[in-house]
Amino acid sequence: MKAIIAVLPGDGIGPEVTAEAVQVLEAVGHRFGHRFQFGYGLLGGCAIDATGSPLPPETVLLCQGSDAVLLGAVGGPQWDDPMAAVRPEQGLLGIRKALGLYANLRPVKLAPALLHASTIKPETLAGVDLLVVRELTGGVYFGPRQEATPEDEVAYDTMLYSRPEIERVTRLAAQAARGRRGQLASVDKANVLASSRLWRRVVTELMRAEFPDVTLEHVLVDAMAMHLIRRPAAYDVVLAENLFGDILTDEASMLAGSMGLLPSASLGEELNPHGQPRGLYEPIHGSAPDIAGKGVANPLATILSAAMLLRHSLGLEAEAQAVEAAVDAVLAAGLRTPDIADGAVEVLGTAAMGAAVVRALDSALT
Ligand code: NAD
Repeated sequence: MKAIIAVLPGDGIGPEVTAEAVQVLEAVGHRFGHRFQFGYGLLGGCAIDATGSPLPPETVLLCQGSDAVLLGAVGGPQWDDPMAAVRPEQGLLGIRKALGLYANLRPVKLAPALLHASTIKPETLAGVDLLVVRELTGGVYFGPRQEATPEDEVAYDTMLYSRPEIERVTRLAAQAARGRRGQLASVDKANVLASSRLWRRVVTELMRAEFPDVTLEHVLVDAMAMHLIRRPAAYDVVLAENLFGDILTDEASMLAGSMGLLPSASLGEELNPHGQPRGLYEPIHGSAPDIAGKGVANPLATILSAAMLLRHSLGLEAEAQAVEAAVDAVLAAGLRTPDIADGAVEVLGTAAMGAAVVRALDSALT
């Protein structure tokens, strides 16, 4: 296969961790006989410095002309002035919008070797393997709103959803469940909110009509916040609207113990020439200015994001699994970056960790 991958390293540790993910993708291409071509673009603070805009038009064109996008992270103290007209995060929201990405997928799976890295008891975490699917372009973040003024101190935001918005994200989550353990838990607040009652009705109807083989349960968001901590291993795919998903994904990410381990994918309706969604793949962590440039950032979340890219945008399941297995093998061997150094056999820097994953990939395939 030939594929074009846009790489947006961004700011802080972004360039360090994306460089390792690109090394791993190159190794996959070499071992499995694919030709991956990488095109680099500016996004975030570095783009503001170079062009005045956090999302230059060339970056949008680069992404639209690629099969998938790999992103590092954006932001940093030098662009943090709240009064500034342009901010790095605008680039992130802008590229999601330009690519029509309506669903965010965050898998949370714990490497057995890292069960002790979390603040939650290992026996509660054993067997956790869940995928949170968050609706990304609707709900209260995008509904009509009124800001308060000094004269009239009343403000509101509106949680607004339409049937098609609910259907497309439900379909995506149900398809993911079908490829996993066949269970979908849909989160809402249907006992209080009208938009949640529509959400629950549409999810129920669509699942009955199109996915009778996938088990569906509805869970109130407050109950889900509790279940995720008390019995996280009970869930397979968790589907939530934008605000509930935003909060629950951060909660779920803490099950894994470190920000440096969790990948994410944002998918839209647009298909690339391979007939797969043109997705955007990024670690869930930010640009970590406190450790940027020191060569100690954990690249595994970005490497695992590259595995998601192989799976969702290129349809290369065996290759994705090979990368995930290589990461597991490295952790099982006790190799760690400083953020997860507890119980390490050897502590490595960013580049050495990337190289270790490439070596594990090689030795599994020879
Ligand atoms: P952060 O995720 O950058 O860092 C939080 C803590 O986790 C820091 O101590 C950092 O050193 C550590 N950390 C994060 N990633 C790590 C990795 N791969 N390896 C080892 N340690 C890691 O969050 P923050 O400090 O709140 O934000 C820093 C900047 O990143 C801000 O400008 C923020 O706006 C931006 N940010 C960007 C994104 C994004 O690009 N998607 C997401 C969140 C925050």
